Amino acid sequence: MLKKGNKLYSILTGTCPKCHSESMYLEKNPYKLGKLFKMHERCSHCNTKYKIEPSFFYGAMYVSYGVGVAFAVAAFVISFLFIGTSLFTSFIAIVGTMIVFLPVIIRLSRNIWINFFVHYDPNAAKKK
Ligand SMILES: [Zn+2]
Repeated sequence: MLKKGNKLYSILTGTCPKCHSESMYLEKNPYKLGKLFKMHERCSHCNTKYKIEPSFFYGAMYVSYGVGVAFAVAAFVISFLFIGTSLFTSFIAIVGTMIVFLPVIIRLSRNIWINFFVHYDPNAAKKK
């Protein structure tokens, strides 16, 4: 299901939205916090410029709101409905989840954001 050409592939792996050939990030692991926001200027495979315009990724903040809510809901459902903890513990679980997954949420948001604007191009993927 998850293969190149599918937007989900680019979103989940953080690869170039156009050719899906390589990571947009200098450091793939989002938990190396010093490099969380460090991205390549362009894709070395298809030459797509990631930062389409100045402060392009500010828009990702709107996406991160939605992604954050999704994580919060998931944390709540798992702790409150599946594990059966109290409301208060579920609340702690939500806060904990948000903190622990923040780097992932930030990266996912950027990946989703750029995938709104840049679409997969099989020809770009084939080049080289
Ligand atoms: Zn590319």
